[in-house]
This record gives sequence, C-alpha cells and structure tokens, in this order.
Amino acid sequence: MRLRLAVLLAAGTVAPLQHAAPVPPADLVLDGAAVYTMDAPRSWAEAVAVRDGRVVFVGASAGARAFVGPKTRVLKLQGRMLLPAFQDAHAHPISGGIELELCDLNDIPTATGVLAKVRECATKMGSKPWISGGGWLLPVFPGGNPKKEDLDSIVPDKPAYFSAADGHSSWVNSKALALAGVTKDTADPKDGRIERDPTSGEPTGTLRESASDLVSRHMPEPTLDERVAGLRRAQALFAAAGVTAVQEASAGGGAEGAGAKPTLEAYREAERRGQLTLRVVANLTADPARGPEQVADMAKLRSAYASARLRPANAKIFADGVIEPRTAAMLEPYTDRPGDRGEPIFAPEAMNALVARLADERFGVHVHAIGDRAVRISLDAFEAARRKPENADLRFQITHLEVIDPADIPRFRRLNVIANFQALWAYADDYIVDMTWGGLGPERSRWIYPIGSVVHAGGPLALGSDWSVSSLKPLDAIQVALTRQGLTEPRRPAMVPEEAIDLPTALAGYTIGSAYANGLEKETGSIEAGKSADLVVLERNLFEVSPFDIAKQRVLLTLLEGKPVFRAPEVEW
Ligand SMILES: [Zn+2]
Repeated sequence: MRLRLAVLLAAGTVAPLQHAAPVPPADLVLDGAAVYTMDAPRSWAEAVAVRDGRVVFVGASAGARAFVGPKTRVLKLQGRMLLPAFQDAHAHPISGGIELELCDLNDIPTATGVLAKVRECATKMGSKPWISGGGWLLPVFPGGNPKKEDLDSIVPDKPAYFSAADGHSSWVNSKALALAGVTKDTADPKDGRIERDPTSGEPTGTLRESASDLVSRHMPEPTLDERVAGLRRAQALFAAAGVTAVQEASAGGGAEGAGAKPTLEAYREAERRGQLTLRVVANLTADPARGPEQVADMAKLRSAYASARLRPANAKIFADGVIEPRTAAMLEPYTDRPGDRGEPIFAPEAMNALVARLADERFGVHVHAIGDRAVRISLDAFEAARRKPENADLRFQITHLEVIDPADIPRFRRLNVIANFQALWAYADDYIVDMTWGGLGPERSRWIYPIGSVVHAGGPLALGSDWSVSSLKPLDAIQVALTRQGLTEPRRPAMVPEEAIDLPTALAGYTIGSAYANGLEKETGSIEAGKSADLVVLERNLFEVSPFDIAKQRVLLTLLEGKPVFRAPEVEW
C-alpha cells in the first residue's frame, strides 16, 4: 500500500496542477486521506475536491490546493481512509425499520432470554391489538420450533406474532391461530408448512414460508406515517454504517401492484419531504401464483414511482426457501431426509417464461436462491434470456447462494450474472453447525457460500446485508469475508477458508460491485471526477489493520452528494 501511494505522489509531482489554469473553488476538500478510489486500476490518492455534490478532483494534496477558495470547507483527514460510500445490494429498510419499534428479538442467544424480552414487550405494547415483532434465531429453540404454549403463558388474551430473523418462519400463540382459523384440519398452503404435533396433528406454533401469511394477513397494516418513520430509523443506521444506496430486496407485488404500493409510497413520501437519504433501487416481488402477465403490472409501478432517488428497476423472484427447515431446493436429497430435496417455488419452465418476459420489458432480475438446484434453475433462465443480444446489459443477479454446485461456478462470469452474497453469513455459526451441515453432508458443505470460487472464476460480485435479517454494517461483513470466522470470541475454526476473499475484492463488492448490481455504477461506486460525491471516511486505513479488527473500525463521516448524512461527534462541520 505504502509503495503504491508513493507512486501516486510522484505522479502528482510530475504533473503539478498548481500551474494549471485557475479552477472554480470547490465546496469541500478532503485532504490528507488514504483515498482508495475503487476506479478500474484501483488507484490511491490523497485528496478529493467536491463541488455541487460532485467530485471535481481526485489526486495528490498539491493538486487539490488549486480548488481551495475562501469559502471552501477543508477537512484534514490525517491518514484516515476515504472510500466511495458503501452500497448494500440486498436489504429491507422499511420492514426492518418498522421492526425496530416492535418487539426486537434479534441477537438474543437463549430461549429464556427471548421469553423475557417477549414479556417485557407485552407490557410495553399492552394497548396494541397484537403483540408482534421479530428477529428470533432459529437455533435458540430445539429444531427451530418454538411452541405456542410458551407465548400463551405470556400473552394469553390477544394474538401474538413473531417473525424469525431469517424471514422464513414465524412463531404465533393460540389466540393468533384461532383468529386465523388455523387448526389441525387446515392443510399446508402451497410453498408453506404448519409445524404440527406428530400424534395429534395440532399446530405447534411455528409456521414456515407461506404458512405465515395465514396469520400475518390478519394483522393491521402499518400506516404511511409508520412506514416513513421506520424508513427514517433504518436510514440513520445505514448512514452511520457508511451506506448511501440500497437495493430494497422485496418491495412487494401482487395484482395491480397492490402489495408494492405501500412500500413505494413510503419512499416517495420520504423523498417528497426531503427526508430520503438513500438511493433506493426497488425489487418488485413476483407472485409465484401468477405468470408472466404480472410483468405488465410491474412496468406500471416502475413508471409511476421512478424519481431522483427511487428506481423500481428490478423484479425479485423467490426460487426456493432456506436450508434450516429444508425448504431450499437441492440437486440431491438432504442427508437427513432421504428422498426429500426440497421443492423449487418456480418450475424451470415457469422461471424461464417469467425471466424472458421481464427481460423483454427491460427489468433487472434479482433471484433469491439458496439451494444448488434453485441456483441452477436461475442460471438456466438467465442463460436463455442472454441469448438475445439486446439483453446483454440487463442486471441479472442471484442472492444468498448458500450452496452452488461446482459445475455452475464458471457460469456467473460466462453469463455475467452478479453473485449477490451476504458475506456476514459465511462462517460456522449456530445455523450452519446445528441446522445446515447435518442436512448437506460433508461433500456439499465444502460449497457453502463459495465467494472465493466465484470471484476467482471471474464472476461479478456484489455484497449486501439482508438487514434486518442480520447486521447492516458493511465492515462486519467484510471482516467475515476475509476470515470466514465469527466476529466475536470464542471463534470456531474458519469455515472453508479457501473461499475467503481479499480486502480489495471485499471493498469492491460493497462499492463499485454493488453499484453495478444497483445500476448506479455510472453515477456512484468509485471516487472519480464527475461522479456523485457519495463518500465515507473510516477511522483507519483498513489495509493497515488486522482482518480481525476491521469490524471495530468506526465510520466517521458519510456524505451523500457531498452533504453529511452521518457524522461522528468529533467531526466538525
Ligand atoms: Zn432478504
């Protein structure tokens, strides 16, 4: 790093910009930083000048001096790291922000702790018609199956509903089941499962995938104001983590786009009030019960809601479920469930037809695929769509990618399909140790989150958090991407350490790589003259800290179009 910086300093001396023709002064000069620009050659610089929200200069300190006028704000960064602001290629800002105000069960490591929290919430939310929240961790309960009786003992008299941290299970009490009319005679819905007592057939209180909707559809919908308030809480967290753009992973869908309108409306309202401090690329959710005809509804939403900071540019397709409850679609049966390999949500023909129509309508496509069969079905659909030369530049991406068959790894590069990973998940946590390895067996477990293999094969990489499923902090995910170990002691051994990536790759994944996935790479994602000044200042140069200290580094300043959306107390402005 030191060597490359020295080279750049020498270049600055060779072309002394102070002798160039006078330039209009900048509004802001960030000087004395370790600027990792994320431009194509991955150059380093010392200073950046910003005018009218855009980068007008990147280079050596000497060159930046020409941009300092009487009114220019100059920040001396004393060797701190300056990067393009992070972009999150997969997150749920509005639902996550709303969840923060409800009963937050995230990161509580024991069942006793979860129940204590529910008790506290039940008192606090006493006036509400439902006691609700989310974030409970599957491994906390035996088999990932919390019981309705536990909730009944705390909330006996009104319905209670708690979604799991993974977003694919929920936990309800008897009152909620009764209100929804779910009994032992209720059949499992398509793509869902009601967990039952093996002898009586009675629902036990855990619902998987679409079975959750049987109950959740009876809950009151949040109002527009509650959604905007949730978004603002989320934005504050994203800004504090250095993030200025997100892909809204699942904005909703349905007939006439009815399910998406409340989400898109909330972004639009926040923008109208001047409160939208994220660039948002929204994924409109495809309904598996409908065919390609739903793309017409999506196209209407896209044109109705596109604005300066909001672009409903992509469709979201759920190709399968998740591994823990064995709803992910695998090529071979689960090791612990002979004959059961999980079912894809879309049959291959249906997936091909939907992707083809989306491509015809110029939509990007963002597929949730966890199992290796779901990944293959998605790649096959993208391969078919790429046969039309006019589809070459459409953003096709697959997210989560928990298991990829090695034969499919080179296809990401060949088909220009973006691997949209949640690197924070790529270590042996309780989900993997207790609920995943046993279902995959050792051979397939070698291919859990194979980030390194996709990157080494030249596949495009984007990174995202899936917040509020897990931490939204890019530095947390980058540390795990480098170490394949948990953030805190005691740490289990690195999980498939061959799949670790290096720091430049991880930083690219969270900046220019995600900008490409978000369709924002011409405007953002690197620090180059002409691009928007979406920037982040970190406490220290990450190349000079141990990989195990990356998550500890503080974000000091986050700029969107040259204006602070977050600033640590010590940063004067
Ligand atoms: Zn998600």
